[in-house]
Amino acid sequence: MSCRYKNECPSYSGWCEGPKPDFSKCVQFLITAYENTKKQLDECRDDREKQVSKKVVRKIQKEDIMIGRIKFAKGTKSYWCPNCDKAITGTDHHCRYCGQKIEF
Ligand SMILES: [Zn+2]
Repeated sequence: MSCRYKNECPSYSGWCEGPKPDFSKCVQFLITAYENTKKQLDECRDDREKQVSKKVVRKIQKEDIMIGRIKFAKGTKSYWCPNCDKAITGTDHHCRYCGQKIEF
């Protein structure tokens, strides 16, 4: 019996065929495939969660900073991404760094 996944298997070299098939390498492949799928699902979930808006974090500047080309002087209000904690501008609907949807 030949393995139906052998064309997709990155480590296929015939051990899963013949009278003494060694499936331990198949298990390795399955674990890798499972982990890759899980990673993709996790990334998908993260992307979906970023589409649900989160309340922006407001701070009062303690010192002058630049956000993009805009200068925020000491004492002015600044906005921060609730997901990755980076400075964003008041006109951003999404964080320019991580893509998180922002609610003001
Ligand atoms: Zn962010």
